[in-house]
Amino acid sequence: MKRFDYIKPASVSEAVAEAARPGSAYLAAGTNLVDLMKVGVAQPDRLVDITSLPGLDAIEWLPDGGVRIGALVRNSDLAYDARFAATFPMVAEALLSGASAQLRNAATVGGNLMQRTRCAYFQDPASACNKREPGSGCDAREGENRLHAVLGFTEHCIAVHASDFCVPLVALGAEVEVESADGKRTIPLGEFHLLPGDTPDRETALRNGELITGLKLPAHAAEFAGHARYLKLRERTSYAFAVVSAAAALDIADGNIRGARIALGGLAAKPWRAEEAEASLVGVEASPSAFARAGEIALAGAHPSGKNAFKIELARRIVARALTLALEGTPDTIPALPASPFSTRPGDQSGVAHVA
Ligand code: SF4
Repeated sequence: MKRFDYIKPASVSEAVAEAARPGSAYLAAGTNLVDLMKVGVAQPDRLVDITSLPGLDAIEWLPDGGVRIGALVRNSDLAYDARFAATFPMVAEALLSGASAQLRNAATVGGNLMQRTRCAYFQDPASACNKREPGSGCDAREGENRLHAVLGFTEHCIAVHASDFCVPLVALGAEVEVESADGKRTIPLGEFHLLPGDTPDRETALRNGELITGLKLPAHAAEFAGHARYLKLRERTSYAFAVVSAAAALDIADGNIRGARIALGGLAAKPWRAEEAEASLVGVEASPSAFARAGEIALAGAHPSGKNAFKIELARRIVARALTLALEGTPDTIPALPASPFSTRPGDQSGVAHVA
């Protein structure tokens, strides 16, 4: 591992001043960054440890019913916060479907937004990778790419974003609060992660030295609490990234859909909000044909980037399946296998709730 300086600031203003210096990186739980440093993919000159900064580890309910989540709130603490899980259940389900219990206990919500792609060529310094080394090429194009992107990719990069958490967040219109020496600003989460274009090394809208201080979910996102699910297909039932995933939520009155939210994971370099598919559901009766059509619309622009055409049909079906599960109603407790199509369904008493 390359040698680096370690700085532990006592305040946000001190942290952003330190991180404005070239070669700096913020360190929170380090569940992704430290791994990448060990294999030589991330090589910061200076680590700015933010874990002791005051005021970033609280879940605060806002007067209008929205919520602000500090960037250092641990994934497990957020998922098991009873009010949060009841108000934004598909976010809790997504959190509990990611990583392992140990990692969820350490990882922070801000860090979850900043996690890097799991493209094997990105994580191997011997491979050509435009994201790691601009202009070097992309070994994934002709390599092992069955889990790579089918939406929003370019010839320069076909990697996907790995987060589960970000998928329901983008569906519900979350915003990211950031701070730098120039002040504070808010970025819609849907604009936070960037598609590769011809600069895949630029992954987020963050400017030099900006620190994520929190996330906000708007009050109206709670309107979907009664009919919301996150569904994730993976190659084993736990501790695996999504092959495809979908967050689906409905606001229903008398069988008619008043509002819908749909976002997809594992398909692009960012969590993919399917707004045209959402619009196709508004004002219509909830039905299998309406859900299947929403799946078709959500994937209308998809095409294979390699040996991954199967992901397109899989994603269409998971949209329809997630909408079907959302229509059945949000479970009272997170199922035993969160977000898994094999988990206990509402009304089925044979399973057990997820508790760890
Ligand atoms: Fe690198 Fe992107 Fe190609 Fe993977 S897909 S090797 S991350 S450029």
